[in-house]
Amino acid sequence: MGVVLSLVAGFAINSPMALKLFYPRATAAVAQLSAAPPFLAGTRVLLVSPHPDDESLCCAGQLQQALDAGAQVYIVWLTSGDGFEVDAALLERTPRPRAGATERLGVVRIGEATRAAAALGVPASHLTFLGYPDGALLKIYRADNSTPVRSPHTGATHVPYPQALSPGAPYTRASLERDLDRVLDQVRPDVTLLPTTSDFHRDHRATSLIMQNLLARRGLLGGVRYWIVHGGVEWPVPKGLHLRFPMLIPPRGHQLNWLRVDLTPQQQQTKLAAIQSHRTQMDVMPRFLEAFVRENELVTLSDQKRR
Ligand SMILES: [Zn+2]
Repeated sequence: MGVVLSLVAGFAINSPMALKLFYPRATAAVAQLSAAPPFLAGTRVLLVSPHPDDESLCCAGQLQQALDAGAQVYIVWLTSGDGFEVDAALLERTPRPRAGATERLGVVRIGEATRAAAALGVPASHLTFLGYPDGALLKIYRADNSTPVRSPHTGATHVPYPQALSPGAPYTRASLERDLDRVLDQVRPDVTLLPTTSDFHRDHRATSLIMQNLLARRGLLGGVRYWIVHGGVEWPVPKGLHLRFPMLIPPRGHQLNWLRVDLTPQQQQTKLAAIQSHRTQMDVMPRFLEAFVRENELVTLSDQKRR
């Protein structure tokens, strides 16, 4: 009896059929999506990542496909992910991290993101870290520019990381926009991968709003592809590593016109390796992170909801 039960449980958790049984309409909806346009040789692709790990979660498959097609891939991270106090505590092996722990976490996460990019094949010279505060990008976006915003986690009011693009730059919108403009001047992207403003995370929404403004000024909004990582309650379902399950349409983005990007098994394995480079994150939420390694990624060419 126990054997039968565990067989049934194994089927329920791992069979590709299982997801169809539990989510018949959702799996059918993904199957019916059109494929995203392929990347073209010689084009320049910029992925804008609010935190270390977003680059791999949203887009590891797409970045590999862009590189395989002969595109140039660049990544910019707005924050160093220095806001995760649980993480900082784990890193320091103590429930009460000492002063500076979140900042040290930021340095560690810059290293993890660099290793993830290397796993995906993105050259180190194409990576830029801006070092703005995790958890405070929307505040920076909305604040007036006269006083720098204070990081709720590190206490910093200026970029504290020597490896950032502008060490010592104040935490203001003008300063962040100047840094992003420098990246745009350097990369001159044909395709920009941005979070959608439907993403639940405030840093992701702020990243999208700031970048959409800058790209609109340059007439580059037409080349944007939008992704989502914080797609709403329980998404992606189910948690954990299920290589033969599709990535379902997220609750928060159900009104967007999603396109599918199908990953090969090799691309899935490389995506998993990139995600596993984020060891501080794998320590605290492995099943959430692994749930992004699915048969497909989702992307949309418009941030506007369908009416
Ligand atoms: Zn993020």
